[in-house]
Amino acid sequence: MNRNETLFERAKKIIPAGVNSPVRAFGSVGGTPRFIRRAQGPFVWDENGTQYIDFVGSWGTGIVGHAHPEVVEAVREAAMDGLSFGAPTEAEILIAEEIAKIVPSVERLRLVSSGTEATMTAIRLARGYTGRDKIIKFEGCYHGHSDSLLVKAGSGLLTFGNPSSAGVPADLTQHTIVLPYNDVAALKQAFDEFPGQIAGVILEPIAGNMNLVRASAEFVRALRQTTAQHGAVLIYDEVMTGFRVALGGAQSLHGITPDMTTMGKVIGGGMPVAAVGGKKEIMDCISPLGGVYQAGTLSGNPVAVAAGLKTLEIIQRPGFYEQLSARTTQLVQGLSQAAKQAGLTFCADSEGGMFGLYFASQCPQTYADMAASNTDGFKAFFHGMLDNGVAFGPSAYEAGFVSAAHTSELIEQAIDAARPVFARMAP
Ligand SMILES: *Cc1c(COP(=O)(O)O)cnc(C)c1O
Repeated sequence: MNRNETLFERAKKIIPAGVNSPVRAFGSVGGTPRFIRRAQGPFVWDENGTQYIDFVGSWGTGIVGHAHPEVVEAVREAAMDGLSFGAPTEAEILIAEEIAKIVPSVERLRLVSSGTEATMTAIRLARGYTGRDKIIKFEGCYHGHSDSLLVKAGSGLLTFGNPSSAGVPADLTQHTIVLPYNDVAALKQAFDEFPGQIAGVILEPIAGNMNLVRASAEFVRALRQTTAQHGAVLIYDEVMTGFRVALGGAQSLHGITPDMTTMGKVIGGGMPVAAVGGKKEIMDCISPLGGVYQAGTLSGNPVAVAAGLKTLEIIQRPGFYEQLSARTTQLVQGLSQAAKQAGLTFCADSEGGMFGLYFASQCPQTYADMAASNTDGFKAFFHGMLDNGVAFGPSAYEAGFVSAAHTSELIEQAIDAARPVFARMAP
């Protein structure tokens, strides 16, 4: 057994499935997860000492590249002054002001430690602010693992919350309405059916947890209009897309001003920082100003905030997103071409530093489209690439991420690594 295998066997004896977050277990692709020893720039190294070009980037948090020297230094400096105080700090003001400057829809925000906390609080605020119970989410969108958001889809248009996790009482999800993504008619129908009862609508504005699926311009316009008309809160969950698809997130690309925004991943630069923000009148409902309770021992942690602040500084340097987008486009175009040359059914899309690869003839627009794609094809691709030293997320339902540390040469290297893999997969 190699070291990854030995560690996996040992891990499974003490940690369920050997992992602290399910997708890491390689369940949908099979095989042994790579235990990571270290990472630098665009690379990760596993416990066997094997190097990989990394397109996971800690699920998008690593936008400036792993262990960026300036971020590491900021963390070191902050750590020297103490790891946690449970009291306010100046750095928290700085990062909040910085986020609000970049995302103008955010008039007030509160820092938390995970995207799950951010969306859970956003939902609670929407309910507290409107005095209504029901929320709408869309099939295939992931908003963390709090109870009322752990509902994916049932069949049928207005299926009510069948929890998609054991341990979540149906009573807790009965107020969650799940609709198909990009379906304007279903959205309008839900508001007609439950007048005055819908507190808010939450969506991934470019979905990244069912691979990459774009919300159409028509869909987001309808969302903004319908929620405004019915006094419901529109929540953009930009935990993944924020500072990733563009500096100002998906809302800046859509030209939409949501009522609330949730953020995470990039704003922590690899440390646990997330945020919930939005209109002042909604955010002021939070404790201790208002009656909506929220708290956190490690919220605004000084070491994590230092990493986030430095990351936000780096991504605002001239040309950052132009380069990131160009590299990501280079990757998806190169892979598409190589797949086509091999005669495969393949399609790819990207926005900013985030991309989707599909073994399908068209880019998906809904979860059902995505589920109909060739996930066995993805498995073969994933393992072939891993064997050739290129790491993608271990599931067909994950988006991929490029960092500023990925050079043009490295992208070419990754595309070249894909050629023999595609050739083997050819029909
Ligand atoms: C990652 C993610 C979350 C959850 O964030 P955690 O920090 O993992 O709790 C929520 N929403 C979206 C869109 C995400 O991508």
